[in-house]
Amino acid sequence: MLRKNRLFTPGPTPLLPAAQTAMASFAMHHRTAEFRALFSSVLAGVKEFIGTQNDVLVLACSGTGVMEASVSNLTSPGDKALVLTAGKFGERWLGLAKAFGCAVESVSVPYGQTFVLDEIAAKLTGDVSAVYVQATESSTGVRHDIEGIAKLVHANSGALLVVDAITGLGTTNFDVDSWGVDFIIGGSQKALMIPPGLGYCAISEPAWARMETTKSPRYYFDLRKERKAAAKGESAYTPATSLFAALGAALEYVAEMGGGSISAGREALVHNAEVCAGMTRAGAKAAGLKLFASAAPSAALTAVEPPAGFDSGAMVKEFRERFGAVVANGQGEMKGQMFRIAHLGYYDYLDTVGVLAALEQVLATVTGKAVEFGAAVRAAQEVFAEASRDNGRGGNSKL
Ligand SMILES: *Cc1c(COP(=O)(O)O)cnc(C)c1O
Repeated sequence: MLRKNRLFTPGPTPLLPAAQTAMASFAMHHRTAEFRALFSSVLAGVKEFIGTQNDVLVLACSGTGVMEASVSNLTSPGDKALVLTAGKFGERWLGLAKAFGCAVESVSVPYGQTFVLDEIAAKLTGDVSAVYVQATESSTGVRHDIEGIAKLVHANSGALLVVDAITGLGTTNFDVDSWGVDFIIGGSQKALMIPPGLGYCAISEPAWARMETTKSPRYYFDLRKERKAAAKGESAYTPATSLFAALGAALEYVAEMGGGSISAGREALVHNAEVCAGMTRAGAKAAGLKLFASAAPSAALTAVEPPAGFDSGAMVKEFRERFGAVVANGQGEMKGQMFRIAHLGYYDYLDTVGVLAALEQVLATVTGKAVEFGAAVRAAQEVFAEASRDNGRGGNSKL
């Protein structure tokens, strides 16, 4: 049968057609009034998308570049950094903090789980200068309680809170300013529906002040330089111009989803991801499968365990070869133990029902056992119908 290539990976995600069109013929020079207008309006849009009054930056790098910038700009060698880690992306924070010579403390929980707040409180001594965490750990599908963590951090220390929300933005609602998230990070290839290549962030005044005294080396990622340039509608170096055109179109689409408001559109996008995630969790369970992160599942993606005794790699391969559906295997030591289906960004009902229908076929082929076709799809449809009823009543979905 004909196969259409479809990405179900938690980054890169499917591209918004309007964003692809916007970037295809884009050829503006970056030191022009025209581009400065686009640059400034995109920055204002990103600010509303994040939901903050803090200054935002959009940089030419993947998400990890901004993660690195948050370490190099906010710490000096020897500073105590507290890293909260629950997966491969938490481990990336450990690597970054060590690379810049921080004295690293960590709170670590097994893959698939989230933190116990008391364990974090115990490590929040007065000498901790910054706390690093993910909003959603994309390697396991877990969502962390950023509001709870922020409260603890600010009640127990003067530390800055840095949140990798690269798959959290657009799948979770954050109250960045009132919770006191000092540095929040996003990436273009996730919920914003455009190609990889832009990292973005919002930075609080205490974090900007910290940069004046920290001593870690930085040059390309000297964020103070970027802030000065951004105030004039420019970036310090050559920006990824065509990606700005794409981002402008994506933000317009988000605004349309919100009836003209980007922040309402972001809430709609979060709700969309929640419904897709709820459908997927119900579908996977109805197919007899276990969720890898059942205690605190994110709306960004769902990690599902293969049937006992089977390797998820065989399922990932079957999804791709038979249906053109690219789902993600586990990362690192988790390879073979899960497949991950994304919900962040440009996914709809048909995508989600489709991938669950494919899952039923994949299970039949890979296990060689009888599968009750339709069980996963039916469970997903019931979740969708329920969410639609809730919406009709004007209430929030319970998903
Ligand atoms: C995708 C992702 C990143 C960034 O990865 P890049 O490849 O640098 O864009 C970081 N953290 C999380 C949680 C992610 O999902």
